[in-house]
Amino acid sequence: MEQKLRREAKALLEQGQVDYIVGFEPGSLKFTTTPLITRDKEEVDRLVINPFIVNNLANFLTELKGRVGIIAKGCDSRSIVSLIQDNKVAREDVVILGIPCPGIIDLSKVEELIGKDRDELEAISREGDKVVITADGKTSEFSITEVLFDNCLGCELPTPQEYDILLGEPTLPVTDRSASQAKIEQLKGMTPQPRWEFWSNELSRCIRCYACRNVCPACFCQRCFVEETEPQWLMPVPRWQDNLMFQVIRNIHVAGRCTDCGECERACPVNIPLRSLTKEMYDIVGELFHFKAGMDKDTAPLMTHYEQEEAEDFIR
Ligand code: SF4
Ligand code: SF4
Ligand code: SF4
Repeated sequence: MEQKLRREAKALLEQGQVDYIVGFEPGSLKFTTTPLITRDKEEVDRLVINPFIVNNLANFLTELKGRVGIIAKGCDSRSIVSLIQDNKVAREDVVILGIPCPGIIDLSKVEELIGKDRDELEAISREGDKVVITADGKTSEFSITEVLFDNCLGCELPTPQEYDILLGEPTLPVTDRSASQAKIEQLKGMTPQPRWEFWSNELSRCIRCYACRNVCPACFCQRCFVEETEPQWLMPVPRWQDNLMFQVIRNIHVAGRCTDCGECERACPVNIPLRSLTKEMYDIVGELFHFKAGMDKDTAPLMTHYEQEEAEDFIR
């Protein structure tokens, strides 16, 4: 897949079909990748595809001018479609190089399983449904479901539905729905008071760095409500009450746009379980409005999409 990607990316640049290629290159730390944005056809040889390509690159589309060739996993391609539905990106300005995605490895889960820091590990490789980890010269094998990100364990569409070039054969999801939903179900099982205490404790750790917002392709406003001063929706100091309000409003703003790519939770430097909010909103949107983000570029976005059977009278 990697060789095909490099060939296709080079051809797109050489033929002038795109101005940029957006993909992944090896990161500076072990088992990491970092986004590569390039116009240089020689640099495409740095592109990689491996189990650590975490970022949702759709986030860059609203910033780049010109035609862009972009590497997209299943969830990323839905974010691209969602941006097209919102008229933030024109379909003809994007060449989607789709990756049938077998899931992304969560290094925190690997560290927990092995009891070592990621820097102390020698190798992590995927072999079918297993992951093989080498540390201190010894190898250990685990089921892939033990190390994938929670959102990947609940992934519905790992193969992009919308693409121009598909880089491999369509793949089936690796699912462990109960593991994917475990944290969310635990919170839903709580009575309101302990759940309130849980979120007040979690959100009191928020430093309001806005990494969760900045990595999210669904958060594309040029001026976010948190920066408004008239009216001032939030105090700039990170008090837990304002942090809660930030997450509540952000979740409403991304409702019907969130593709459960998991980027906001992964980017949070203090490990607040943000997916427990975003995935719950994703499911509510599905149940109440029969809508999933980024499924069809020709469908209107959720907030302009009504059905005869809407629950609320004022919409009917
Ligand atoms: S959610 Fe699906 S498409 Fe997205 S990274 Fe995980 S397995 Fe891949
Ligand atoms: S990434 Fe985490 S710490 Fe930063 S603003 Fe979001 S919730 Fe707060
Ligand atoms: S809210 Fe989080 S999970 Fe949803 S699209 Fe944005 S970054 Fe991805």
